[in-house]
Amino acid sequence: MNIVQVAIPLRLDTTFHYRVPEHLVNQAQPGKRALVPFGRRKLTGYILGHAEDTGSELKEIISILDQEPLFTSGELGLYRWAAAYYLHPLGEVIKAALPAGINIESRRKRVTHDDGTAADEERLTGGRSVKMETFYRPLPASGEAVGLRGKAERILAFLRDLGEAPRVVIGKNFGESSAPLKKLRELGLIEELKRELYRDPFREETFERDLPQLLNESQAHAFSLIAPAITAGKFSPFLLHGVTGSGKTEVYLQAIAHSLSKGKNALVLAPEIALTPQLVRRFRSRFRCGIAVLHSGLAAGERFDEWRRIRRGEVSIVIGARSAIFAPLERVGTIVVDEEHEASYKQSEGFTYNARDLALVRGKMENAVVLLGSATPLITTFYAAKQGRLGYLELPERVRNLPFPDTKILDGRGRKGETFLPELVEALADNLAGGGQSLLFLNRRGFATYLVCRDCGHVFRCPNCSVTLTYHRLKQRHFCHYCDFSLPAPSICPGCNGAEIGFLGRGTERVEEEARELFPTARVARMDSDTTSGRGSHARILKKLEDGSIDILIGTQMITKGHDYPGVTLVGVISADATLNIPDFRSSERAFQQVSQVTGRAGRGDAPGKVLIQSLAPEHYALVRAAAHDFAGFYAEEIEFRREAGYPPFCYLATVNLSGTSPQAVEKVAEDAARVLRELRREFGARTEILGPAPATMAKIRGRFRWHILLKAPTRRELNTILVRCRTDFRPPPVVRMSIDVDPVEMM
Ligand code: ADP
Ligand code: ZN
Repeated sequence: MNIVQVAIPLRLDTTFHYRVPEHLVNQAQPGKRALVPFGRRKLTGYILGHAEDTGSELKEIISILDQEPLFTSGELGLYRWAAAYYLHPLGEVIKAALPAGINIESRRKRVTHDDGTAADEERLTGGRSVKMETFYRPLPASGEAVGLRGKAERILAFLRDLGEAPRVVIGKNFGESSAPLKKLRELGLIEELKRELYRDPFREETFERDLPQLLNESQAHAFSLIAPAITAGKFSPFLLHGVTGSGKTEVYLQAIAHSLSKGKNALVLAPEIALTPQLVRRFRSRFRCGIAVLHSGLAAGERFDEWRRIRRGEVSIVIGARSAIFAPLERVGTIVVDEEHEASYKQSEGFTYNARDLALVRGKMENAVVLLGSATPLITTFYAAKQGRLGYLELPERVRNLPFPDTKILDGRGRKGETFLPELVEALADNLAGGGQSLLFLNRRGFATYLVCRDCGHVFRCPNCSVTLTYHRLKQRHFCHYCDFSLPAPSICPGCNGAEIGFLGRGTERVEEEARELFPTARVARMDSDTTSGRGSHARILKKLEDGSIDILIGTQMITKGHDYPGVTLVGVISADATLNIPDFRSSERAFQQVSQVTGRAGRGDAPGKVLIQSLAPEHYALVRAAAHDFAGFYAEEIEFRREAGYPPFCYLATVNLSGTSPQAVEKVAEDAARVLRELRREFGARTEILGPAPATMAKIRGRFRWHILLKAPTRRELNTILVRCRTDFRPPPVVRMSIDVDPVEMM
């Protein structure tokens, strides 16, 4: 047993065998990292398991980098599944699944240490200094504490309520307290303990205790199907469909409480944890068990600390963004994917997994209940529910029965590009006069890539693929970026013979300027990626909105996230067209989701809200249905479009992406790759359609030119077969990088 299989995080499809020298045999366990010779380099690899001795010449492991395994065999199963499905090297999948802190540390170690045994403990903690904290816990008291008064009495009640509290938290709440703490200890009412202090951004907040609500009828129905599935320990996926405020989170909380009562843990994924601190707060107020939070706003050290707490079994609930799907939580009983429709569940670079989809895979592997929650589920999810592949749970009403805001679509055609239509100006003025707050929403993405007639709203679409054509300045042509269709850009609109064809849109800055000019006395703020690059800056802007020191907030998608802002009584969408016309077959779905979400932002307090949506396509079904809060109606129209145009759920997609610094080389290699794919298609007698190559919508990013080939397959198996062969048969030259994206979400 002294040969191991090792995965190395490089763009290699194979794993490697190494011999384990005698003195490392005891340490060389699956799940640990090993330093191995690779060519003339030394690299860190992951030990996957033991291998048979085939008698061939093998190199030896240099050292073992961990004292404890980093992953279990169950977790390795998930990594392997993802590597095979997404056609990504296993070593890179493992690297992506583990927290960055570990990998950074090992690089330093590699230089300084070469023998296996030294400094192991340091490695386990990532070489970071460990701080201890003091905390207090009430002891089970016999009878009542007689004669206690004042601070000591209050601190005891506090500790009994919370279960325990660190010294800093007690200090925060009660000021200087060493005397009363000493007294309580002497009376045997509390104990003082020490433990390793983890960096925890929420550590010093205290939470009011929050008790489970009595479920309403639809929540109770949902729970009555979820709970037995958790008890039975049987893989059961559900779609929990309900608008914001319909009580989905309450169902998650109670499902998780049920899991905990059965000794099972819970994993909760949310798209943007940094933007939704309320979610974390609700979990902390409800549960007294250990909760770990993983998100991109944490520093590497904080993430690593959270990861270690999970690995050591110190937490029962993990809340995190996309990458938390790989959290080393054991005995998972419930997996929640909140806002399952969000595109941010898809990793867009490198290992392009989708955490929403992996939640189902992990749920199946762990026999867990998976709850996919959304007000606007993906078309594909809803279709799966209709087909009976997911349980369907609906929460049709808002808990507090708030009325939906009054929503209206404003026709911007023939307006020659005014930022604010008169009706929106009037509504803003009225709202300002009445002391209400307004949000102005604008989608900046996709601007300036397509042409539109400002008179009639005509947009140029590919006759084969139904997606918006993308304008390429250099070639002065419109391209379909799915197939190879292209057209010279006309100067006269084929719809109305008008000459007002041009690009659409303006940035948040311009909108802010114009708003200031229109309303010089209003307090106007902007929230977009420019104004929120600093840590905590979102929170600061949202706090200002909350305490009423902003009248008009202008922003991108970000402002549609987050929770209750009761003072917001008017929401304006500057242009719904930017989303409606993104060159993607999902553009209608995106527009429906965004308008629905924006609509949910208005009128959550006592004052009824108003939503105004400016568009050059005021009759588009996505807008009309969103304005009417009619998901079923939207689904019925959209599923027909998908069926006719041949898009998911009626086929499976992948793209083969090529990029490089020489535009000629990339184009040439893309053509070669497409030729190989077409040959494979013939060889397999496959029905998979191969479209392109075509230049990507974002034809150049960071100096690299980008082309892609789109595959549309009738089954996942066929798609996988062709792609596996393509990867072995086609090797691009070193100047061109090839990557594969299975189930692409944003084909930009
Ligand atoms: P969602 O997650 O769908 O937005 P929440 O679960 O956050 O909905 O519920 C919205 C609000 O209603 C929250 O303040 C929540 O505490 C409250 N709520 C949820 N369910 C109930 C219930 N059954 N009874 C009373 N209040 C409830
Ligand atoms: Zn096309």
